[in-house]
Amino acid sequence: MNISSLSQQLNMSVQELRAEIAKLGFKVNPRQRKIDNDAAKQILEKLGTPVVELPPETDVVDDKSVALPPNIIVKDLAAKLKLSVVDVVKDLIKNGVMAAMNEEIDFDTASVVAADFGFEASLETATLGNVVGTGYVAEVLKRELQNPQTADQFVARPPIVAVMGHVDHGKTTLLDTLRKTNVVSQEAGAITQHIGAYQVDHKGKLITFLDTPGHEAFTQMRARGANVTDIIILVVAADDGVKPQTVEVINRARLANVPLIVAINKIDKPDANPDRIKQQLSEQNVLVEEWGGKVIAVPVSAKSGQNLDQLLDYALLLAEVDDFKANPKGEVVGTVIESHVARGKGPVATVIIQNGTLKFGDLIVAGSAYGRIKGLEDSRDEKIKQAGPSAPIVVVGLSETAQAGDIIREVKTLDEAREQALAHEVQKKAKAMLRPGIKASGKTLNLIVKADVHGSLEAIEQALEELKARTEEVQLNIIDKGVGQISETDILRAESAGATIIGFNVNANPAALSLAKAKNITIDLYDIIYELLEDVTKVLVSLLSPEIIQTNIGTAKVVAIFRTEGNIQIFGGRVEEGTITDKDPFRIKRAGEIVGSGEVRELQQNKVKANEVTRGSEFGIKAEVSGNVLEGDVLEFYTEEVRSKKLS
Ligand code: GDP
Repeated sequence: MNISSLSQQLNMSVQELRAEIAKLGFKVNPRQRKIDNDAAKQILEKLGTPVVELPPETDVVDDKSVALPPNIIVKDLAAKLKLSVVDVVKDLIKNGVMAAMNEEIDFDTASVVAADFGFEASLETATLGNVVGTGYVAEVLKRELQNPQTADQFVARPPIVAVMGHVDHGKTTLLDTLRKTNVVSQEAGAITQHIGAYQVDHKGKLITFLDTPGHEAFTQMRARGANVTDIIILVVAADDGVKPQTVEVINRARLANVPLIVAINKIDKPDANPDRIKQQLSEQNVLVEEWGGKVIAVPVSAKSGQNLDQLLDYALLLAEVDDFKANPKGEVVGTVIESHVARGKGPVATVIIQNGTLKFGDLIVAGSAYGRIKGLEDSRDEKIKQAGPSAPIVVVGLSETAQAGDIIREVKTLDEAREQALAHEVQKKAKAMLRPGIKASGKTLNLIVKADVHGSLEAIEQALEELKARTEEVQLNIIDKGVGQISETDILRAESAGATIIGFNVNANPAALSLAKAKNITIDLYDIIYELLEDVTKVLVSLLSPEIIQTNIGTAKVVAIFRTEGNIQIFGGRVEEGTITDKDPFRIKRAGEIVGSGEVRELQQNKVKANEVTRGSEFGIKAEVSGNVLEGDVLEFYTEEVRSKKLS
């Protein structure tokens, strides 16, 4: 149960309760918010409060699986397994471990005890450290972290940092200055190649920078469901301020759950005003220390290099706090940052390794490309033999160029490589077929939104509400929303509501997919929020009735009627204002009232065919009219433009 609700029951503050819990011999770390029910019961009993009904236990599930931390006090283990401490101590002795009830045992030992009592133990997810990456990379990391054998092999890895911000605020300059002054063991005059990422050495520690100013790298990665960025450095020019793209970065960082460090740049300029920037950031809910928050803001000059050391210090500090780790001995996985065909080398790809160690000669697959590594280079164009976690490297030997965001992984045989590359191709095609576009009926767009996490769901919902508020003509309804994979229930709900299903960073399970096909329900999958919003906006705009804009271009007076045959009339006139043409239609006006309209069949000036006649000239005309043209009528020529309406 929650420590806070326990503290309420005991009528004491959380701090007081924590102290009491410690006194009673239970171990609670400062960040822990829950304790298990048995412990809570004991605490309630010891503190003299009648035992009240406790909520059902959540971490011990019916199938007898239990999540345990890397180290646990014997007594706590007993509580977790709902066993008496004596039974646990006896079992430990049986297994050759002499441990008293207040002693700590490691996960391996605890899981043996758990197994003896029929439990299957796994390493607690709260101790998984910061698993960065989505999809396959995250899966590999989690799998290895949950396996006690491989969990031990994890070591700190350099943080991977992206530099983002509004145009002209100094991203390129910052990346250039850092590269020039800090690149790993820089030799005099050595030229670094731009491979999309580089590493700097700061006080003996490495930091990997994504070397693509602007948001492309990050966006492309996200577009493919990949996420390599650990930290975003948000550059804001102190002589300018928080701009639309600044806000965009803030929102993206929030969505992707990536921490920000703010670099308040150009402080060398006389009109620099860092305080104003901090205030503007606070309006975006990015609170730096002076504003009562925790976001780090460093005033820097990318140009002169002032305070860049401090910026790097903070990046390393944040990395330490967030505990970025990988297993250099584990399965090799990485993400492609960039790929092209290089002269004399064939297809090359810049890759950031996220787990394991990639070696010369390894067989790899990257999207639909595969091959044996014939060359490995670092960002200084130097040949290397192997590369571990967070290293940006260039890989030579792929069968074709890969795409930014493709996952690279090691395989054992060439057959397996081919098979996986082919499977990727097939999947890509299937996914492309899955996007027939959002469907709307009448002036209503009904959506069911599914997202990977609550944070993104909320952000999408909020953005959709904002879109909705921008039009009264068209209805946008969120029929249903939720976190998790798209299921058959969603499809059935979409069918009954006539809704399109939108998935963000989620997939549809196979049963749901085939049901969607059978019921002709549209599923649209997105990895980037703004693309999702762009598509929804497009649909909304397409539902708005178009606006027809008429512009008068010329007025003529009818001076003589020559012939009338049905609705074809031949007559003469004089242009009084502007220009008339043989392409544009006209209105017929009599005594200020519109009495009909017409279209030109032929226009003549001085008995010669003309495309247009200007003010003051006489003309002859053959026109098809509705209504009847009489001598003395005024013809108003106009152009017509159909303009699709915009959301307000
Ligand atoms: P980006 O569009 O964000 O990549 O911005 P750039 O790095 O291209 O910088 C835009 C302009 O600002 C360039 O003219 C830079 O020389 C200038 N600039 C960047 N950083 C600084 C700085 O710290 N001080 C001054 N005075 N100018 C800077």
